Amino acid sequence: MLKIRYPILFLLLLTFRNGITTPDFDQFFVDQTMRIDYYHTGTRNVDIFSLDQVYAQGRWAGSKTNLLDTLNLGKYLAKVVDAGTNALIYSRGFCSLFGEWQTTPEATTGNHQTFHESVLVPLPRDAVNFVLAIRGNDGRFHDKWSIRIDPNSRFISREGANTNARVSEMMINGEPENKIDLLIIGDGYTKDDMSQFRKAAKTLTKTLFNVEPFKKREKDFNVRRIEIASQESGIDEPRSKIWKNTACGCSFNSFDSPRYVLSFHNKAIRDIAANAPYDALYLLFNSERYGGGGIFNLYAVCYSGTKRQGESWWAEYVFVHELGHSLAGLADEYYTSSVAYEEFYPAGVEPWEPNITALSDPQALKWRHLVQPQTPIPTPWEKARYDSLDAELRKVNRLSPDYLEQIETLRTEMETLLRSQTYWGEAGAFEGAGYLSKGMYRPYLDCRMFSKSLVDFDPVCQAAIERVIDFYSR
Ligand SMILES: [Zn+2]
Repeated sequence: MLKIRYPILFLLLLTFRNGITTPDFDQFFVDQTMRIDYYHTGTRNVDIFSLDQVYAQGRWAGSKTNLLDTLNLGKYLAKVVDAGTNALIYSRGFCSLFGEWQTTPEATTGNHQTFHESVLVPLPRDAVNFVLAIRGNDGRFHDKWSIRIDPNSRFISREGANTNARVSEMMINGEPENKIDLLIIGDGYTKDDMSQFRKAAKTLTKTLFNVEPFKKREKDFNVRRIEIASQESGIDEPRSKIWKNTACGCSFNSFDSPRYVLSFHNKAIRDIAANAPYDALYLLFNSERYGGGGIFNLYAVCYSGTKRQGESWWAEYVFVHELGHSLAGLADEYYTSSVAYEEFYPAGVEPWEPNITALSDPQALKWRHLVQPQTPIPTPWEKARYDSLDAELRKVNRLSPDYLEQIETLRTEMETLLRSQTYWGEAGAFEGAGYLSKGMYRPYLDCRMFSKSLVDFDPVCQAAIERVIDFYSR
């Protein structure tokens, strides 16, 4: 009898929502965050996970109704399985620095490295199995690591958060569970620099909510900022032999790419962030030098660029672009770049990102519903002409006194070329995307994920961002 009664009892705890069965939050969780810290070690095609520490921290910021991931984004899937009934009660897709490092020459030649990672889930009432799955070349997730966690054990740290951090509410539209909680942390700001951080955070947030679809969905966001004093002003610039001790550890030249800024100090960042509820993290670093990065469901990074002259002005572009990566899992649509990836998109594998495709099956095109019947797939455009202008752009000497003017002239010419194309403004499959000149396609000629300009997100990217906003806020 018992064997039959338990599953029936469990089914009663589930409700139907959006066509999928969703666990009831209050049955399985309390309104707190469980942070699982672990190390991710390995090399290409080798992943070893080892537990570091589990924490019970502040209130839960995520949705209490959308507990199971329906977005199907990211290279990894974190799952929480109720140990008593073996039912999946929470899941969330994400990407990691390790996953990106695995595609660099260092890893593909067999070196091993270790990265510190965290997954945030609602704090379960009873014992659970925490499972990490990795997406295979077949596009599906495969379980790689499972560990039992008893949330009531003495091994769960209940330490308070870093008290040197000061939280301020910049825009509050409702309870964290019904909003996307964006948390901006300043890095490379000393105590004396803090007014500059406040100014940059304010300016760039304003920029964000002037860009669609963020503009029309502003009320679905809460924005907070954290002031945490760094010992030194600015961040690491290894190529210029500049090293700074900062609160979050942001550094230029990540994965040996000059303008790629990330931080590998995950524990420090998470300890600071634990002071506020967050769904999306933003590290805003003190610099006039162009740089940034964005990893899906980890964080976005952007320079402050407060001077609004020279390259400092591009902060407005970078701030919104990087959130496209970190919030919605959008891929870069540009394809001539110096990023250090060798095997970022393996040949013949359809990327999981919503805005690029390998087009192995044109009938199954992800954004087919937006394409007019008469539009050819792949869609013709003057790629050779565009590529030659891009090659010229790359040859411009950064040290020449009229560098920015020369760049601007070429950029204008490239933009004019795009706008003169037959299929400008229409959905199609335009070759050249995801760092690859051949074999990868983007949905529109131009987008905030394609050209370094203040152009809007294309309709495919806008829809992808809105899906994520819906997921967190409904
Ligand atoms: Zn990008």
